[in-house]
Amino acid sequence: MSAEIIDGKAAAARLRGRIAAQVEQLKSEHGITPGLAVVLVGEDPASQVYVRTKARQTAEAGMASFEHRLDRNTSEKDLLALIDQLNADEKVHGILVQLPLPKHLSEAVVINAISPEKDVDGFHIANAGRLATGQDAMVPCTPLGCIMMLRERLGDLSGLNAVVVGRSNIVGKPMAQLLLRENCTVTTAHSRTRNIEGICAEADILVAALGRPNTINADWVKPGATVIDVGINRIETPDGKTRLVGDVDFDSVRKVAGAITPVPGGVGPMTVACLLANTLTACTRIHGVSLPA
Ligand code: NDP
Repeated sequence: MSAEIIDGKAAAARLRGRIAAQVEQLKSEHGITPGLAVVLVGEDPASQVYVRTKARQTAEAGMASFEHRLDRNTSEKDLLALIDQLNADEKVHGILVQLPLPKHLSEAVVINAISPEKDVDGFHIANAGRLATGQDAMVPCTPLGCIMMLRERLGDLSGLNAVVVGRSNIVGKPMAQLLLRENCTVTTAHSRTRNIEGICAEADILVAALGRPNTINADWVKPGATVIDVGINRIETPDGKTRLVGDVDFDSVRKVAGAITPVPGGVGPMTVACLLANTLTACTRIHGVSLPA
């Protein structure tokens, strides 16, 4: 058997198309342009690439994009003052502070300073609490994208056995919450889990978010399972170049799984598209407008 490859690039393009149409409708019928502010502190090369991609796709979707690039020595006081200003800015509906931050800045303090209604990354403690208690929340983009791909492939997820490997606040925990919301039976595995291979091999849905290259191989996977690989790892190849791989050993797992997301081209593109979706959601909630799906 060879797994269906879930094309995250194509799914993201479809989602961006739907978002662009809704943005157009918001503009023409309500005179509102959704706006996303992205704050980057320092010059981390990977973060710069992410911020550029986000700004380009925001503009392509017809939204306003506001970029704030700050020196890496920026004080917490100055960063919090900028966030206050963005919280109050009516043109800004979504605020994203690119992580990681330089060591002298507290990520928790900075993220929790963002107005929860504008917290399009869904990392604010109020949004984590809302998600955990089943209330309307801004949902972190990566798990949101994973759920959309799972629903697109499997339809109703009720009753399925789901295993999430990884328990970070930005991926593993919200992923488990979302799967629970979809009525899956959810297990969260992590670095201390015993018999992790056996636990994963029971999963109808296996989400890998451990940040360890090519770790999950065919022995961990139930035949026919849907495998979502969140991992993004840069590894060196024998010829001295680097390439991106996931947490799943794609070549072995694709022979067993029913469907699998590739790296790159799987979860990554959906994450950025979900940022746009969250900005649109934030904008419609702030203005009390409802748009047809
Ligand atoms: P973290 O490092 O914050 O969390 C990793 C989690 O995996 C921890 O809970 C850790 O367990 C667990 N873990 C580590 N090693 C093992 C192991 N050998 N067996 C089982 N569990 C293990 O990572 P993130 O959640 O931030 O990211 C995970 C991956 O997803 C990374 O590769 C990251 O680059 C990628 N990523 C991709 C995104 C995308 O858009 N596609 C977005 C965000 C992240 P413990 O808690 O016990 O330490």
